[in-house]
Amino acid sequence: MKVIVIGGGASGMVASYFFAKNGNEVTLIEKNEKLGKKLYITGKGRCNLTNNCSVEDFLNNVVSNPKFLLSSINNFTPEDTMNFFESLGLPLKTERGNRVFPLSDKSSDVIKVLEKALINLGVEIRFNENVLDLIVEDNTIKGVTTTMCDYFADKVVVATGGLSYPSTGSTGDGYKWAEKLGHKITDLKPSLCGFNLKGEEYKELQGLGLKNVTLTAYDDGKQYYKEMGEILFTHFGISGPLVLSCSALTCKKDYKKITLSIDLKPALSEKELDNRILRDFSINKNKEFKNSLDGLLPKTLIPLIITRSKILPYKKNNVISKEERLGLVNTLKNLNFSLASLRDYTEAVITSGGISIKDVNPSTMESKIVKNLYFIGEVLDVDAFTGGFNLQIAFSTAKRCAN
Ligand SMILES: Cc1cc2nc3c(=O)[nH]c(=O)nc-3n(C[C@H](O)[C@H](O)[C@H](O)COP(=O)(O)OP(=O)(O)OC[C@H]3O[C@@H](n4cnc5c(N)ncnc54)[C@H](O)[C@@H]3O)c2cc1C
Repeated sequence: MKVIVIGGGASGMVASYFFAKNGNEVTLIEKNEKLGKKLYITGKGRCNLTNNCSVEDFLNNVVSNPKFLLSSINNFTPEDTMNFFESLGLPLKTERGNRVFPLSDKSSDVIKVLEKALINLGVEIRFNENVLDLIVEDNTIKGVTTTMCDYFADKVVVATGGLSYPSTGSTGDGYKWAEKLGHKITDLKPSLCGFNLKGEEYKELQGLGLKNVTLTAYDDGKQYYKEMGEILFTHFGISGPLVLSCSALTCKKDYKKITLSIDLKPALSEKELDNRILRDFSINKNKEFKNSLDGLLPKTLIPLIITRSKILPYKKNNVISKEERLGLVNTLKNLNFSLASLRDYTEAVITSGGISIKDVNPSTMESKIVKNLYFIGEVLDVDAFTGGFNLQIAFSTAKRCAN
């Protein structure tokens, strides 16, 4: 059979591999001058290509539509992904949080082994060719129109990715074609990205990194996220691992109703923190409040905490009331910020939303509307937290459609 795969990213390369391995004549069309431009920048250039975890743990890390992925993940598990890359000659290693990387720490090696395997299997790779549209007759795919010519095939696989990091080639083309053919596209939002905060206060904290703090997010007062980890204050608000994972849930909500709260001392209860402050204050009775927080907080954070606590900065510790002290404890345990918006696609690791899973067969990835047309990878309405899960989605859906 003749198969056309559109998009030489993570999912397109793996789908091309398995289609060719199964004896099909495969043409892979990539608009860029090379394969895997996005793959190259994954994992900060090291490519966290999967997570060395069970299928169950994988599914727990999928944010949107985990059930849709049941068939593909069972058919191509994280372990299968690791075996697959090792069999292509890419030694791997597992790091903190079960994150799997190439032993060489080079994402370019992932691309190299895939490209070599595709060439060995006789996949025809067409570079610098932009697919403009799909050719469909009687609800059956016939081929594609590119900037060069028309190609005809028995099957067409759309592996064009999402909207994030458009400079890598992922510009959402697949959504447009799918929508035109009657597939529903669910709300598209940047995800796994930083938060723009309201107000000006965060500007003074720019560059400050906080480790072992807890971030809690509330939607109209209702808690929907709470995790301990690392936050980074930036020129726009906050970022860092905790914020990225929180964004995967936040992107589906009405930003206006979101409140973010940082617990600066999650290891201490309010009572324990109060005792600690009381001890500090009684040792330094005559010290001014503004000079008393050095042992408790990073320097950059002190002016904001003083303002929020409403305790006069020049007040001596021995005249600070119990009420004021409890106000300080509350500020330290609940440093609140309002969300303005999420960062945009140029910075978002993935796109949340996509081609509705209701229009795609989970056992084959074939469209339920157009025969012999397949959708795989980020173009689908599936996404996951960081940790190698998104590439695993790309690989599993790719393998599933080739079977
Ligand atoms: C900075 C960053 C870091 C990341 N790190 C990780 C990580 O460490 N681990 C992880 O699991 N995930 C990571 N991700 C997410 C991961 O890269 C994506 O989920 C994954 O690449 C999606 O694969 P895909 O094949 O669906 O799409 P893509 O990899 O985006 O590939 C789509 C391809 O289609 C091509 N294309 C698009 N339109 C056309 C057209 N009209 N004609 C021809 N070709 C076309 C594009 O040029 C592109 O090459 C990261 C993402 C980013 C942005």
